[in-house]
Amino acid sequence: METAARTAPASVIVAIDGPAGTGKSSTSKAVAAKLGLGYLDTGAQYRAITWWMLTNGIDVDDVTAVADASAKPVIVSGTDPAAPTITVDGLDAAGPIRSQEVTAAVSAVSAVPEVRALITDLQRSIAAEAPHGIVVEGRDIGITVLPDADLKVFLTASPEARAARRNGELKGKEAVDLAATREALIKRDAADSSRKTSPLAKADDAVEVDTTDLTLDQVIECVVTLIEGVSAEKAGRVTR
Ligand code: C5P
Repeated sequence: METAARTAPASVIVAIDGPAGTGKSSTSKAVAAKLGLGYLDTGAQYRAITWWMLTNGIDVDDVTAVADASAKPVIVSGTDPAAPTITVDGLDAAGPIRSQEVTAAVSAVSAVPEVRALITDLQRSIAAEAPHGIVVEGRDIGITVLPDADLKVFLTASPEARAARRNGELKGKEAVDLAATREALIKRDAADSSRKTSPLAKADDAVEVDTTDLTLDQVIECVVTLIEGVSAEKAGRVTR
């Protein structure tokens, strides 16, 4: 028993929350790849269900219609940080979920309690099945989805920095305007932070990292160091 516990790697569950454009996805993916952990983009899941609603003619502002349809799409997330995938009813949704149409509608869909309950269950089962631990990024992971996560990180950045980063990601795909991106981000944050069910919020026990003046590599380094700390602590507890 003691030998098995000593050799078992400390599998860690990491929750990374924060508003759009703080570098959550890039950081989470890189950190997971470096440490051999799985990776789950929960925003992609909310985008996927929103895309399904839009393509199936559901009025995303009709809460009852969204709630009634919420169990219909089958959403599957692949958790390899080197090649994360998302499918809806077996169709690859990675491209369409990033459209401006989906981005504009996702806050309304994700505020519907039935949608949140379903996606939260899915997220918990994915995290529970991750063989070596997982980095889960989103808005409500530390508080609602995985309140017992080994490490909670809350990323922030100024609205200007966030808009500039988001524009960098979109460039070449759609026409972008910095002021419009900034406004859209602020609007989405306000909707995500003020909804009744599981709003975007920092858990009391989360480590806040302001990424405004940090490079991506610096943020990655910071989070890797935090994970190594909790992992070593956990391994120590297991072998004691
Ligand atoms: O992270 P991303 O910008 O792709 O998230 C898209 C949207 O999904 C957010 O604006 C929010 O409305 C919703 N979301 C959520 N809870 C999460 C992750 C994302 O409500 N855990």
